[in-house]
Amino acid sequence: MKWLKDVHDLKHKDMYCNVCGKKLKIEHGILKEDVFSAKKEWGYFSHKDLQIHTFNMCERCYNRMVSEFVIPVDISLKREVM
Ligand SMILES: [Zn+2]
Repeated sequence: MKWLKDVHDLKHKDMYCNVCGKKLKIEHGILKEDVFSAKKEWGYFSHKDLQIHTFNMCERCYNRMVSEFVIPVDISLKREVM
């Protein structure tokens, strides 16, 4: 499973949170708010063979989703800031 934290590849002008439909702030092609971006290429052992699913979540919807996890998210701090 691939969870892409960074969004470098903005193919569309407008981006929306898939959960609440909120439009995400983009200025001059640069995303101005952090977003949870997920991409999953379903494989042979799924019932979605070869489908690629992608979605974005705003931080508020992300917080709501992870608050329902039985096992909490692993959190570590990034040491190098690019
Ligand atoms: Zn949202």
